[in-house]
Amino acid sequence: MQVVRQIREMQNISEKLRNEGKRIGFVPTMGYLHEGHLSLVKKAKEQCDSVVVSIFVNPTQFGPGEDLQRYPRDEEGDKAKLDAAGVDFLFMPEGKEMYPSGYQTYIEVTDISKGLCGDFRPGHFTGVATVVAKLFNIVKPRIAVFGEKDYQQLLVIKRMVEDLNFDIRIIPGTLIREKDGMAMSSRNAYLSPEDRKKATVLYRSLLKAKELFDSGEKKTYNIIEAVEKTIGSVEGVSLQYAEIRDAETLKKLEKINTPVLIAIAAMVGSVRLIDNMIIGGEER
Ligand code: AMP
Repeated sequence: MQVVRQIREMQNISEKLRNEGKRIGFVPTMGYLHEGHLSLVKKAKEQCDSVVVSIFVNPTQFGPGEDLQRYPRDEEGDKAKLDAAGVDFLFMPEGKEMYPSGYQTYIEVTDISKGLCGDFRPGHFTGVATVVAKLFNIVKPRIAVFGEKDYQQLLVIKRMVEDLNFDIRIIPGTLIREKDGMAMSSRNAYLSPEDRKKATVLYRSLLKAKELFDSGEKKTYNIIEAVEKTIGSVEGVSLQYAEIRDAETLKKLEKINTPVLIAIAAMVGSVRLIDNMIIGGEER
């Protein structure tokens, strides 16, 4: 695996690969990699000739008071994992090169960035859309894989790609969980052992929602109430939102009659965690 740190060098490599007729698959990440990230790499490898992974902790998607400074990092560990996974290029730019002084261009994806995480992290999706657009122009992929763990982000990127005519296919990757059901996340590393146990209530609350739906409950209000009750039963876990939305458009729903997304965000101690599940569609 070749490590590339300069934007121009990455662009030249990608240009050459494209001229050779190679299909570039891309997986953008913020590092501290786990099996969730590696499942996206596997997907990219299946469909492409060359796989590029980026590691960049993007400052513009963190709000004031969020965890930019303490975001976990493990460059050597990440390199070993990506190498073993058969990644061809690891792109790791410096913040100063991505956002030099004088930088002033941002991409705002309007409606779909509102609600859910958008309400709790103002500016977050503008930061995400901006850095992903920049990375697309640097890596020049034919396909890019994004995890369903960050479901709203996946839809924001799909919208941006369609609206701005990027010639890139966005492929979703299934949410990967730990053995106890907890959604894998780099941020899980912040949790104390005690909070880590408490955090499994997020998944349990989603299972409760699915169980209710499967036994005939179709009113979103009743399902959300059960989720809130489940989360509320664990001390130290406080729900930011639990919502049921149309899985394609994120429109609010009163009744479930199409595949829907049930999405939650909660603080476990001082750590913000998100999780989601699709219900009413095909089994995942
Ligand atoms: P991050 O490093 O957290 O910015 O995530 C980089 C990519 O990995 C995003 O597309 C995430 O949605 C995806 N990802 C993170 N966690 C998981 C997971 N548990 N399962 C599947 N994809 C994930």
